[in-house]
Amino acid sequence: MDRLAIVVPCYNEEEVLGMSSEALRGVLDDLVAKKKISEDSYVLFVNDGSKDRTWELIEEEHAKYPGQIFGVKLARNVGHQYALTAGLFTAASMCDISVSIDADLQDDVAVIEEMVDKYHEGCEIVYGVRKERKTDTFFKRFTAQSFYKLMAKMGVKTVYNHADFRLMSARALNEFENYHEYNLFLRGIVPLIGFKTDCVYYDRKERAAGVSKYPLKKMLALAFDGISSFSTRPIDLILTMGIGCIFLSVIALIYALVSYFCTEDVARGWTSLIISIWFLGGLQLLAIGLVGKYVGKTYIEVKHRPRYNIEKVLTNDASQD
Ligand code: UDP
Ligand code: MG
Repeated sequence: MDRLAIVVPCYNEEEVLGMSSEALRGVLDDLVAKKKISEDSYVLFVNDGSKDRTWELIEEEHAKYPGQIFGVKLARNVGHQYALTAGLFTAASMCDISVSIDADLQDDVAVIEEMVDKYHEGCEIVYGVRKERKTDTFFKRFTAQSFYKLMAKMGVKTVYNHADFRLMSARALNEFENYHEYNLFLRGIVPLIGFKTDCVYYDRKERAAGVSKYPLKKMLALAFDGISSFSTRPIDLILTMGIGCIFLSVIALIYALVSYFCTEDVARGWTSLIISIWFLGGLQLLAIGLVGKYVGKTYIEVKHRPRYNIEKVLTNDASQD
């Protein structure tokens, strides 16, 4: 039987922690009763340097349900992505399946069962995808959807309308551990891992209690991190602009020369000036873009991402199995 770890990052979540603990324990009990997971499955709360009583509450829950509620206390606030990673890596050696979910119960805990079913069907990663965003404010919906679209334009593969509610098998977690980059954008890395994946769909609810811990500033930082950690396309844009400017400079050259020879009231010095501005501007952009290309390559190299992950090997060597 497979051991399930539900990993929950928490930052100042004292208002909602009791509720999520209860809801998630309910899920565990239900799945254990249905014999879909083993009895030693657990919920792992990661306290991300909360300033309120979140950690005390986790300790209390652990004292009450020592077999079901585990906790990790980070030494300071490191942000959602890192807190979640800390939890996943802690769980990796003590589980067969992990499910990551936010503490605020916005994601539907009922679909965890569907995720586990998909795992039993052979999926290593199962994404929780929001059907609609009825409960989000217009602003949140608009910014979030523009974000997914921009990511796609920049060539970053993400799953549309999927946040960090997902199942990962221990195997997928082990591969994930090979991504050593510092700037972590999980929604971009997980699709790189590969293996058989699937999605489950759910309606996102309102926060059970408390307020969002993702103000606009953090959202923008996440968006920028997502793009700058995965895409060197902005550099290509500069390069294209440079080439465009040089092309325009040829037109400016023709235009300026025609004006110089055919019109009488061309100011002195204008012709040479206008040609130089366009040409030099273009040349500079081109040069920056070119240097950027090398910087981009270096950037990709220093990440040391795995080039491939192996799913299966067929040989006649028994030790490979
Ligand atoms: N969170 C965290 N560290 C932070 C900010 C948020 O661990 O610095 C957690 C938070 O406790 C919650 C999850 O990340 O479990 C998602 O945050 P929230 O629900 O506030 O974001 P929203 O749903 O509004 O985007
Ligand atoms: Mg939330």
